[in-house]
Amino acid sequence: KVYGKGEAEVIAVNDVSFEVEEGEFVAIIGPSGSGKTTILHMIAGLEKPTAGKIYFYGKDMYEMNKRDLTILRRQKIGNITLPIELDKKKVNREKLDKIIKFLNIDNRKKHLPNEISGGQQQKVAIGRALIIDPNIILADEPTGNLDSNSSEEIIQLFKKINKEYHQTIIMITHNLE
Ligand code: ADP
Ligand code: MG
Repeated sequence: KVYGKGEAEVIAVNDVSFEVEEGEFVAIIGPSGSGKTTILHMIAGLEKPTAGKIYFYGKDMYEMNKRDLTILRRQKIGNITLPIELDKKKVNREKLDKIIKFLNIDNRKKHLPNEISGGQQQKVAIGRALIIDPNIILADEPTGNLDSNSSEEIIQLFKKINKEYHQTIIMITHNLE
């Protein structure tokens, strides 16, 4: 992936090739500016690669028309760093309650976003991803702004989601811990 032209040209991602199997929990690790977010955005269908291809269940994502790609993003990819796009469907209350319990935030149901902690906000974002039953969850440094206790809790939660729901996850971090 190349951004810009001429003097402003930035090679954000160069010659990267990998495959993620269903049910895998993959971490992308690297220093700031190494192209992690760009990779995630390309997988999310938000950023077309300059060269190369991205296949989602065998389908070349960027060969799809815009509308199909938008639907795929909305229904199949749980990107917890982006605002959820509404699908004009009814919320399944039962499922919502189950997820809220699973995330251990049922005592915060009546609270506004600014009334809950960073870790709890992150859990809400995870819930937003889980409720659509995504094929894959993409998480861009989900513990980036959290203290070590909350970080640990979020990581354990991802592990549990991966194990119990066989959920495919790609998570970016620059924290080797
Ligand atoms: P990371 O997430 O690993 O910190 P990024 O993928 O955000 O790295 O960025 C990789 C490189 O691409 C950086 O040099 C960054 O400045 C550049 N970059 C990212 N997005 C853009 C953009 N929209 N326009 C121009 N350059 C960009
Ligand atoms: Mg980044």
